[in-house]
Amino acid sequence: MPRLLDYPSQCAELEKMARLESPPPATFEPASLAAPSSAATCLVCGASPARACLGCDGVAYCGDPHRRLDLRWHAPVCPELRRIADDLACFAEHSREQLEAGLLARARRSAAVPTGWDDWLGPDLSPALRRCLSDLATRPLTLAHVLTLLSEHVPKATSGTTAVHVIAAAQRERDVSPALWLELERLFPGRRFAITLIGPELAAGDLGPAVRVVPGLYRRALWAELGRPDLVIGYDCGLLLYPSWKSTMHDLRGSGVPFAITSYRGWEAAGEARVLRAIGAVPLLPPAPNPFASLSARRSTTIANDLARDNAFLSAWR
Ligand SMILES: [Zn+2]
Ligand SMILES: [Zn+2]
Repeated sequence: MPRLLDYPSQCAELEKMARLESPPPATFEPASLAAPSSAATCLVCGASPARACLGCDGVAYCGDPHRRLDLRWHAPVCPELRRIADDLACFAEHSREQLEAGLLARARRSAAVPTGWDDWLGPDLSPALRRCLSDLATRPLTLAHVLTLLSEHVPKATSGTTAVHVIAAAQRERDVSPALWLELERLFPGRRFAITLIGPELAAGDLGPAVRVVPGLYRRALWAELGRPDLVIGYDCGLLLYPSWKSTMHDLRGSGVPFAITSYRGWEAAGEARVLRAIGAVPLLPPAPNPFASLSARRSTTIANDLARDNAFLSAWR
């Protein structure tokens, strides 16, 4: 488990990100501090006991001077950190199966292919439950959205089965149940889907006839074994972070198979777009906010005042 960076390094990273994409303005000044607790340490100096921020209970300070020093970075994320705590409580309260059953029952009421979470989940949900359900379904629904936007480029296969390769697949993709992936078949009547998850960290073992699992790096050479896909998608695959992507992207560019990628942040999506353009990939969908991003934010493990959402930005290429 990565640990928090030292405070000056956290600030340096936040400065860098703020230069790439200005953080949302803080709308309020976080509330005061709780009573000192010996279980807490100050984010700025590491002193203990420290006093938790009453706004979020997600950070602590030795006292008001260090709370004030960190205000620039903490104020914009304090409300979101509170929501993350609420989401974790919601996930702890319900089993994944319960949440999924509720989700699918709800989804069945929606007509056609939804254009955003409101269409698919309906409006009558508690905010935390709505965020948790969006987090469970962000991958299949992002895929449905891509298929709608790329309908000219991913025609209905003559075999009747649309083959999708999910690259850089990891546990988060494996955790999506086949029933959720197969929601695609309800959204696109008359079409069948074959999903293959491919990623170096995946444990072997198919999830059912419609969702296969192939451990390993994605290479075009795999098509000989798996068949040529109709669409390739990589969820938050971090093209800028992992050099091993380069050959995969070279393989895909110009292959005739469209590929979609998602990113946690706008600046990341813009950087990935530069890399892809530089190797000659042609944009089918330029990077844009994804209406099926998870509504539940995820906190950075190394920077206390940093968070991101799965699949926040989406682009597609060929
Ligand atoms: Zn301190
Ligand atoms: Zn706070």
